[in-house]
Amino acid sequence: MNENEKQQALLRMLPGVDHVLELAKPDPFFENIPKSVLVRCIRSAVENFRKSILDGDPDLTEGDLADSVFLEKVKSSVHAAVRPNLRQLINATGVVVHTNLGRSLLPVDAIENILTIASRYSNLEFDMSKGVRGSRYSIVEDILCEVSGAESAMVVNNNAGAVLLCLDTVAKGKKVIVSRGELIEIGGSFRIPDVMAKSGGILKEVGTTNRTHLRDYENAVENDTGLLLKVHTSNYSVVGFTAEVSLKELVDLGKKYKVTVMEDLGSGTFIDFSRYGLIKEPTVQESVAAGADLITFSGDKLLGGPQAGIIVGKQEILDKIKTNPMTRALRIDKLTLAALEITLGHYRDPDKAIDSIPTLRMLTLPFGYIETKAKQLGSVLENIGDSRLKIQLVNITSAAGGGALPLLNLPSKGVGIKIKGISPNAMERHLRENATPIIGRIEEDIFIMDLRTIQDDELVPIKDAFENILNLN
Ligand SMILES: *Cc1c(COP(=O)(O)O)cnc(C)c1O
Repeated sequence: MNENEKQQALLRMLPGVDHVLELAKPDPFFENIPKSVLVRCIRSAVENFRKSILDGDPDLTEGDLADSVFLEKVKSSVHAAVRPNLRQLINATGVVVHTNLGRSLLPVDAIENILTIASRYSNLEFDMSKGVRGSRYSIVEDILCEVSGAESAMVVNNNAGAVLLCLDTVAKGKKVIVSRGELIEIGGSFRIPDVMAKSGGILKEVGTTNRTHLRDYENAVENDTGLLLKVHTSNYSVVGFTAEVSLKELVDLGKKYKVTVMEDLGSGTFIDFSRYGLIKEPTVQESVAAGADLITFSGDKLLGGPQAGIIVGKQEILDKIKTNPMTRALRIDKLTLAALEITLGHYRDPDKAIDSIPTLRMLTLPFGYIETKAKQLGSVLENIGDSRLKIQLVNITSAAGGGALPLLNLPSKGVGIKIKGISPNAMERHLRENATPIIGRIEEDIFIMDLRTIQDDELVPIKDAFENILNLN
């Protein structure tokens, strides 16, 4: 048979859609698969084969077009078509608040409350004492005021939204004074100058990258100044010959000239991390006590709750913000509120919060605990009993992530893996494509999994993943 005849023979073997539908009928895998999906996947499998045949793919044989083989192909594409795009994975990076991997894991009782509120009607916007329409913002206002010490509070979709809303409310068409050392960019899409432009505030930069003095702010204050803005340099640190103006000094300056003072805390925390052996982050309570009119921060960074943007501060200004029509576009949803309220409640007792809020727990895990877990994972993997697997425990550092505590290097323990005959990059790809993907890092040609962010029940799925890789190769 020449090439052309071989091609024609293969093309004749391509099954029809109805034939494959018949093949699929008795297979329980297809039982609950919508017919539209199945037909689409069959058609695309046929088309892919047709293309390979016409391209003269030398690896393609008649065996590839056998019914059972063809059905397997359809199965895997149906599987990919019906599985959710958003799915769980194992964070073995050691970055606790990993923005790409979903930031914070929620406390168990917050998750339970989401379940309740999601499956029942609720008083989301219903004033229970008066029996009339209420406000969803009031749901977490009391607890926010209680733990922060602020007069008033509200929440929106995320901190970027919170900053935008505050600027739009108090500084539209007015000058906003910011230190050049604080013109931050977070994750590429949040940049102070851009947010300022969107809000209609007019950015007035003062000072220099490394040193800004009170007189720089004072000299810049004019009649059309609407705001003194302090931005927490969340994801970097200016070190060396530096000077910055404290929030308290800005508050005093604001009082003198009757200008509103706002602080974007970024991550925001109610916990003094230095009490737990970490680097101190400014707390929300301290910013409130310093007298800032407005303070904004995230719900899902160091706070360890759901994605949200929290605004606390002076009643008079918060009242204006609450009636800004923009709030409607940034409004927080009920499932977020359900989780946020419960998460915030944990901060009534900070020492307990450290244990019950997963983000805080992972940040403060004792080294010995992580080391024990690393040893456990090491021996689980040893038990696979494959001589190609080279396992070692390595000393590494984890990071807080989420644009917080940039200088913090948390000593941690990892399990390093080499597999004879498989490159670290190939291993990384296999693990990323695993049914439950595992995301780690490669250092010096070793694939490393940091036990700080691996959950206790994830050791067995990790073992399964490595068994898969070894079986495939
Ligand atoms: C992270 C961060 C933001 C954005 O917060 P999101 O909740 O991600 O929208 C804004 N400002 C600062 C200083 C930040 O660190």
